[in-house]
Amino acid sequence: MNLKALGYWKSDEMSDFPDPLELVDSTWDSGEREIISDYLCQGQTARTFMGSSRCRLCGKSNGSSELTDGEYIWPSGLGHYVMDHSVRLPAEFVQHVFRSRQVLDEAEVELTWWMEESARFQVRIKHDG
Ligand SMILES: [Zn+2]
Repeated sequence: MNLKALGYWKSDEMSDFPDPLELVDSTWDSGEREIISDYLCQGQTARTFMGSSRCRLCGKSNGSSELTDGEYIWPSGLGHYVMDHSVRLPAEFVQHVFRSRQVLDEAEVELTWWMEESARFQVRIKHDG
């Protein structure tokens, strides 16, 4: 399985990566940034590191793990760059976030599976008293 990585920044070891300062877009709508930032903060933890990284733009301690949604992977502090520094992410990712939200909004919630399954296993659970 391949996960597309985003939000990794230039460092001594990784000189080909972008500098977040060059991606700051102060015109990016704050409502849209909030949605993207929320999404980034709600990812599933993929890996955890010893010690946290610092924000390249303000120096704040900014996460020590990587999060994923099963398609993309990013450092846990990426939401901070988006929300607090207006660091732009690729349009493809922004569209992915909006598409995922729309799929969830439109999803039908099916309750019969839970009712049937729980009825099947509750008889095997012993009740005290
Ligand atoms: Zn910062």
